[in-house]
Amino acid sequence: MKKKDRPSAVDSGPCGPSVDRRMSAKNTAFRAVERNGEAIAKVGDSIFYFAELGMQEIETSRLLVGVLRDIGYRVEEGISGFPTGFLASYGSGHPVIAVHVEYDALPSGSQTPGVVERRELAPGAPGHAEGHNTNPAVMVGAAYGIKEAIDRHRLSGTVKLFGSPAEEQLVSRSFFVRDGHFEGVDAALHVHIGDELSVVHGIRSSALISVEYEFFGKTAHAGNNPWTGISAADAAKLMDIGWDVLREHLPPTQRSHSVIKDGGVQPNVVPDYARIWWYFREASAKGAADLFRRARKMARGACLMTGATHRETVVAACWPNWDNRILAEVVQANIELVGMPRWSEEDQALARRVQKAAGLRETGLRTEVTPLMQARQAGGSCDSGDITYVVPHARIIFPANIAGTEAHHWSAGIAPATPIAHKGEVTGAKVLAGSMIDLMLEPRHLVGAKALFDKGLAEAGITYAPLLPPKTKPPVKLNREEMAKYRDRLKKHYLNAPIRFK
Ligand SMILES: [Zn+2]
Repeated sequence: MKKKDRPSAVDSGPCGPSVDRRMSAKNTAFRAVERNGEAIAKVGDSIFYFAELGMQEIETSRLLVGVLRDIGYRVEEGISGFPTGFLASYGSGHPVIAVHVEYDALPSGSQTPGVVERRELAPGAPGHAEGHNTNPAVMVGAAYGIKEAIDRHRLSGTVKLFGSPAEEQLVSRSFFVRDGHFEGVDAALHVHIGDELSVVHGIRSSALISVEYEFFGKTAHAGNNPWTGISAADAAKLMDIGWDVLREHLPPTQRSHSVIKDGGVQPNVVPDYARIWWYFREASAKGAADLFRRARKMARGACLMTGATHRETVVAACWPNWDNRILAEVVQANIELVGMPRWSEEDQALARRVQKAAGLRETGLRTEVTPLMQARQAGGSCDSGDITYVVPHARIIFPANIAGTEAHHWSAGIAPATPIAHKGEVTGAKVLAGSMIDLMLEPRHLVGAKALFDKGLAEAGITYAPLLPPKTKPPVKLNREEMAKYRDRLKKHYLNAPIRFK
């Protein structure tokens, strides 16, 4: 750090910079977020209607890169070989605070926002049935706020904003970490849609290895001379059956699931090609690696039994998510400062109608922030896991959805482009910007977070190494054909609906 980059001595006593300086920087940031509320909502809503699947977030990343450049950020596109990934930076020197978000949609998740029954924008099309469209809106909102705070209050530090493709397939961020994009970062924050304003600390997800096995056999007439054929589909089935038998002898913390992506064309042709896609999950990275080793043997066994050959491709791999208590406390202080959005009667009425239709208690939208809590480790995964083992990390959940809706179900796509989402995005952006300002102006937070991080690794005896094999390339073709089927049909919906904020 250059000497002139440090906060001035007047501001820095033993307790860090004066509360006044932090509060006035936050006020600047919050005002900038509010002033840009319409622009923030427009980002979130535009991405909702783009409804792009992982690795195919072409319009989405183009929009985000353009907006961030307009705000004044330096943007590097295509990082780690991800055509729809980017890194936007602002400021200089330390501390370096990273923010990362995903923005991919889900297959068959299409839904008209604000409508309390299934109404797809285009039949069968992808859609934001988890509201990932709102995550980058929050990041952009904070980008407005923190930039203005840095400029006006001469804050020292660098903000790095990562656009992270294909979260639903757990892909990009392990590659970013493997390729060194988080070296020199002091703290990292994730923002994600939810139905509350909250943060937790501790381990909250599972490690995962995503692997495709392709089996190759030999076609034959299945009626006349099946004995000359080798069925690739049989090999895929035997791998599946083998794994199901093994499950009894695996620890209860494992979760593994597969889909057969290709299994032959028609019954009278012995299939010469089959493809099965597996997710192997465990509580620890080591556990996931162990499952993968056993799966390899299973694939080889299936080939021995059938005479098929096979090829293995790792699509993605990630560590569990481990959130830092000190960072979570900083975020929580900002959650309490910002508070929940002020919902209108219309927002509450929509929430209650959605809950009623789903057979849930009609509690409406939450009006209180959630207290800081210890995480419970869940069976799901997120590719941000690797980040959390190289740098202290926390995740902000912001309230842009309705309590009770299930992510990945179309009903979770009702709220994310309505005034509920717009208010939640502004709230999330303020919490994110406020947290970044605290980390920039109060060095003790980062010192404490790093000490806790080091202690946690030492106590658990963990040395981080990527689960992702070193030469794995980004799966750039993922979802390409699927997205191509719907892109034109979705185009006519691109932000046709006017943005409503109130
Ligand atoms: Zn998500």
